[in-house]
Amino acid sequence: MTHTTDAAQTADIIVVGAGLAGLVAAAEAADAGRSVLLLDQEPEESLGGQAFWSLGGLFFVDSPEQRRMGIKDSLELATQDWMGSAQFDRDEDFWPRRWAEAYLHFAHEEKRAWLHEMGHRVFPVVGWAERGDGRADGHGNSVPRFHITWGTGPGVVEPFERRVRAHAEAGLIRFAFRHRVDEVIVESIDGVGTATGVRGRVLEPVPSGFERGRASSRSEVRDFELRAQAVIVTSGGIGGNHDLVRQAWPPRLGEPPATMVSGVPAHVDGRMIAITEATGARVINRDRMWHYVEGIRNWDPIWENHGIRILPGPSSLWLDATGRRLPAPNFPGFDTLGTLHALRRTGYDYSWFVLTQKIIEKEFALSGSEQNPDLTGKSVRGVIDRARKGPGPVEAFKRHGEDFVVADTLAELLAGMNRLADVEPKGPQVEEPALRRLIEARDRQIDNPFAKDAQITAMYSARHYRGDKLSRVAKPHRILDPANGPLIAVKLHILSRKTLGGLETDLSGRCLTSAGVPLPGLYAAGEVNGFGGGGMMGYNALEGTFLGGCLFSGRVAGRAAAAAI
Ligand SMILES: Cc1cc2nc3c(=O)[nH]c(=O)nc-3n(C[C@H](O)[C@H](O)[C@H](O)COP(=O)(O)OP(=O)(O)OC[C@H]3O[C@@H](n4cnc5c(N)ncnc54)[C@H](O)[C@@H]3O)c2cc1C
Repeated sequence: MTHTTDAAQTADIIVVGAGLAGLVAAAEAADAGRSVLLLDQEPEESLGGQAFWSLGGLFFVDSPEQRRMGIKDSLELATQDWMGSAQFDRDEDFWPRRWAEAYLHFAHEEKRAWLHEMGHRVFPVVGWAERGDGRADGHGNSVPRFHITWGTGPGVVEPFERRVRAHAEAGLIRFAFRHRVDEVIVESIDGVGTATGVRGRVLEPVPSGFERGRASSRSEVRDFELRAQAVIVTSGGIGGNHDLVRQAWPPRLGEPPATMVSGVPAHVDGRMIAITEATGARVINRDRMWHYVEGIRNWDPIWENHGIRILPGPSSLWLDATGRRLPAPNFPGFDTLGTLHALRRTGYDYSWFVLTQKIIEKEFALSGSEQNPDLTGKSVRGVIDRARKGPGPVEAFKRHGEDFVVADTLAELLAGMNRLADVEPKGPQVEEPALRRLIEARDRQIDNPFAKDAQITAMYSARHYRGDKLSRVAKPHRILDPANGPLIAVKLHILSRKTLGGLETDLSGRCLTSAGVPLPGLYAAGEVNGFGGGGMMGYNALEGTFLGGCLFSGRVAGRAAAAAI
C-alpha cells in the first residue's frame, strides 16, 4: 500500500465522524475561523450518521410549546427528574454530573432559541416519553418534554449540514469520506503526549446509486496520515456491534440477550472507542447503555437485522414470553431499562404486546425518520390523515411485519402467537385459559372512570394531558369487545441502540487521561463521549437527550478546540 502525506493533508482541526456531533463541532470550529478536515469512513451519501434516521425528538425544558399545551415545567423539576434517572453513584460520575447540570441549563435557556435561529422548528404537540418508575424522585419525566422536530431527523441535521457545506464552499472545511481512522497520533511536544493527527485507511469507493444507511465495503485502497493541532472524536457508539454490546452488558440487567435486532446502521461499530483509548484517553461507564424492549423486525430493511422501535402509548397489555403480565410500573412507554431488567429475568429474548385496532391506531408510533413520512416531509395534510386514520407505516407493519398477528378471536390470536413462538427466538406456547382470564379481569376494570388496575389508572391519568388525549392515548375500552377489534399481538424484540458511557471529558470537551488531566489536542463529543463528560445521563435517559447531547457536546468541543489553537 502507498502512504500519503502532504501539505494539503493538514488542517487546524480534524473531526473524526460526520454524524450530528461531528457536523456541529466542525461548523462551530469553522465559524471561529479554523480550518477543519471532516473525516468519515462512510460515503457522502450517509452524511449525518444516525441523526438522519432519528425521529428528531428533542428534550426542552419549559418551552413555549409546553406552555401552550398547559404543561408547567421548570429547571428545578427537570433537574429532579434527571438526577432521579441518572442515579449517579460513582467517582467517575464527577464530570458526567457536571455535564448534566450544564446540559439542563442549555435545554432550559438556550437550546431552543439557538436552533430556532437556524430555522429549526418543532411539532406543537409535546410528547410524553419515558413516564418513569412511579416515584416522584425516581426515574422518568414528570411532564411531557419530547419535542419532535418538524422534518424529524433530517430537520435536525439540515441546519448543521448547511453551515458545514457553506464553510466547505469557502474552503475552510474539507471533507474526507471513506477515510477510516485506525490510529490517533500522539507525539511528545514539550515532553507531553499530544494528539497531532490520525492515521488510517482509505476504503474503496461505493458503487454509484449507493443508498444511505446501507453497510459499505471495508476493502482498503491505501493508507493515509493527516495532521492537525487538535483532533475531535465524534465517532458514535457501539449499538451496531452486538458482540461489543454483549461484552459491556451489565450484570444488573441480567444475562445479555443472544438475539437482538439492530436499531442503528452498521457504521455504529464502536471501533473508534478502543482506538482513542489507546492514546491514554480514559473510557468510563462502559456498562451503561440504553436499549429498547419494543423492537420489531423491519419488513423493508435498510441495514442488516434492521429493527424499528415502537414508541407505544400506555394501553397495550404487556406479557412476557410465557404469557404472564409484566408487573407495575412496566407499562408501555414508562421505564425502558426497568422493563428490560424484568424481561431478562424471564429467560427469553422476547415479549408480547396484546392490543386492539383502536389502540394501535392511536398509540403506535414508530421511531425513525423514514417511518414518519408526514412529519419528515413536513406535510400538514399527512399529519391530519394520521390523526384520522392512524399512521400508514404502522398499517404496513400490521400487514407485512413478521412479528404481527391480527385476528378476530382470542383463539385465533393465540394460534398466531404460538406459531411465532416457534420461530427464532423461540419460546413457550401461551395457554388460552390463563390469557383469557387475565384479559377478562382487566376488561372488568373498564366500566368506571377509575380503577384498581395500575395500568388503567395510568391511562386515565394520561388523558388529563391534552396532548395524550388528542393523539396518544386511546379511550380505555375492553380488549375482548369485538367492536374494538380486530385483536393484535406483536412479538417484541430487544433492540440495540444507545451507548450511555464513553470517553471522559471535562467541560471543554477535552479528553482526560486516567490521571484526570487533559490529553492535549484531543477532544470528544456525541455518543462516543456518552453525550457529554463520559455519560451525562448516568444509568437512564429521559429521551430526546441524545440528539441534544450531540448538539451541546459538539458545540462545546468545536468552540473549545478552536479557541485552544
Ligand atoms: C432510528 C433512530 C432514532 C433515533 N431517535 C432519536 C430521537 O428521537 N431523539 C434523540 O435524542 N436521539 C435519537 N436517536 C439517537 C441519536 O440519533 C444518536 O445518538 C446520535 O445521532 C449520534 O450522533 P453521533 O454524531 O454521536 O454519532 P453517529 O451518528 O453514529 O456518527 C458517527 C460517525 O462516525 C463515523 N465513524 C465511526 N468510526 C469511524 C472511524 N474509525 N473513522 C472514520 N469515521 C468513523 C461513522 O461512520 C458515523 O458517520 C435515534 C437514533 C436512531 C438510529
